[in-house]
Amino acid sequence: LTTEISAEEIQAGKHAYQLDRDHVFHSWQAQGPFAPMTILKTQDSYVWDGEGRQLIDISSQLVNTNIGHQHPKVIAAIHEQADKIATIAPQHVNDARSEAARLIAERTPGDLNRIFFTNGGADAVEHAIRMARLHTGKHKVLSAYRSYHGGTHLAVNVTGDPRRYASDHATDGVVHFFPAYPYRSYFGSTTEAEETERALKHLEDTIILEGASTIGALILESIPGTAGIYLPPAGYLAGVWELTRKYGIVYIADEVMAGFGRSGEWFAVNHWDVTPDLLTFAKGVNSGYVPLGGVAISEAIYETFRERQYPGGLTYSGHPLACAAAVATITAMEDENMIANAKRLGEEIIGPRLERFYADHPSVGEVRGTGVFWAIELVKNRETREPLAAYGGSSAEMNEVVAAAKAAGLLPFANFNRLHVVPAMNIPDEVLIEALDRLEQALFVADKFVTA
Ligand code: PMP
Repeated sequence: LTTEISAEEIQAGKHAYQLDRDHVFHSWQAQGPFAPMTILKTQDSYVWDGEGRQLIDISSQLVNTNIGHQHPKVIAAIHEQADKIATIAPQHVNDARSEAARLIAERTPGDLNRIFFTNGGADAVEHAIRMARLHTGKHKVLSAYRSYHGGTHLAVNVTGDPRRYASDHATDGVVHFFPAYPYRSYFGSTTEAEETERALKHLEDTIILEGASTIGALILESIPGTAGIYLPPAGYLAGVWELTRKYGIVYIADEVMAGFGRSGEWFAVNHWDVTPDLLTFAKGVNSGYVPLGGVAISEAIYETFRERQYPGGLTYSGHPLACAAAVATITAMEDENMIANAKRLGEEIIGPRLERFYADHPSVGEVRGTGVFWAIELVKNRETREPLAAYGGSSAEMNEVVAAAKAAGLLPFANFNRLHVVPAMNIPDEVLIEALDRLEQALFVADKFVTA
C-alpha cells in the first residue's frame, strides 16, 4: 500500500484524534469506547487513514460520494460560488439554487417539478411528511419496518430499525408495516410472486384496520439501503402505489440513498415505473461535498400551497455553496456518463463477483443489488439464515470481519450482518476489481464462524 502522507501530517492527525476524543460528541455511539478512524486525505476512490495507509473507499462515506472524492469540477464550482455569493437568505433568488432546482425537476419522474431544499435527508423526510399531512388533512404516516429515514424527531420515529426505540414516546401517528423482503419473508413466502401478493395484502389490511380516513402519507425507500439493500420484488412498488391511489394516501419515495444514479438510474423508482407524489433526496445530489437535501413535489401538492402558506422553512434552504455543488455534480454525472457506468459496473463486475462469493463462501447467505448499490448478507448457517449479527445490533464476529477488510486495505461499509459494496459510480474498473479481491479476505474470516 502506497504511503503519500508525510510524518508531519500523521502527527497532525494524531493531535486531531486526541481533540476529537476530548471534545467531539459522535452520532449513534457510546461515546467512551468509540475509536474512530482518522482520515487524513481523500482523492477519487481512495482515502488515507491516520497511519497514512491508502485504502479503497467502497463505503462512499455513508453512500454519499456518488462521484468519488474531490471531483475537480465540483471543487471548482464551490470555489467559484464562494467568491461570488457564499451565503444568502432563502427568501432571495440565488442563481445556483434556481439552476439546481431546474436540473433536479427535469430528472425526477412524473410532474415532480417543484423543489424544496433542506440541509440533508432527515429534514427532507420531516418536510415531506408535513406537506403530505397538510395536503390530505390526515395525520397518520405508514412506514416500513427494516427501513432508515433519518435521525431527527419524526424521521427517527418513521425509521424501522431499533434505533427508533429511544424516541418512541412521541410517535406522532406513525404506524409500521412489514415490507416485502423475500430473503427473510415475514409472510412465510417461498417465491417472489408470493411475497409481493402477501406483502400487499398485509399493507391493505393495515390501511383498512388503521382507517384510511386517518392516513395521510406512506413513506418507503424505493430500495431500502441501511436496512439491507433488499430490492422490492416485481410488482411490489406498483402495488403499493395503487393502494395509495385507492385510499387517498400521499406516496413519499425516500431516495436519499438510492437516488442520483446509485442504482444505475437517476432514481430507483425508475426501475419500477412508479411515480411518487413526493420524493426525498440528499447525499448523491451533490456527492455530499456540502450538506444538501430536498423534497421534489408534484403539481397537485404544490397547488395546496399556491394560496396557503407552507408552514416550514430553513435558514439554509438552497444554500448557494451546496446548490453550486449540486449543479456541478449533476452536470459531471451526465457529461461523464456515470449513470450508465454505474449500471455497467453492477452488471459486469460487482454482480458476477458477488455471485462467485456466494458460490465460494458458506458465510454468504445472499447477495443482491443493482448499479453500485449492493449488499452481502452474512450468516452463520445458510439453512437457518441465522445472521452474523442481529438486525440493529453488532457482534464480535462482525467486528472481526470488518477489521479484516480494513487490514486488507479497504474502507468497508458494514451494517449489522451485512457488508455493503457501495463504491463511487466512476470508480475505475481495475480499482473496483482490486477492492473486491480485498473484500474476499473478510469473507474468509466470516467463513470461520459458519456452524453448519
Ligand atoms: N433516508 C434515507 C433512505 C437515508 O439513507 C438517510 C441517511 N442514511 C436518511 C434518510 C437521512 O439522511 P441524513 O443523514 O442526511 O439526515
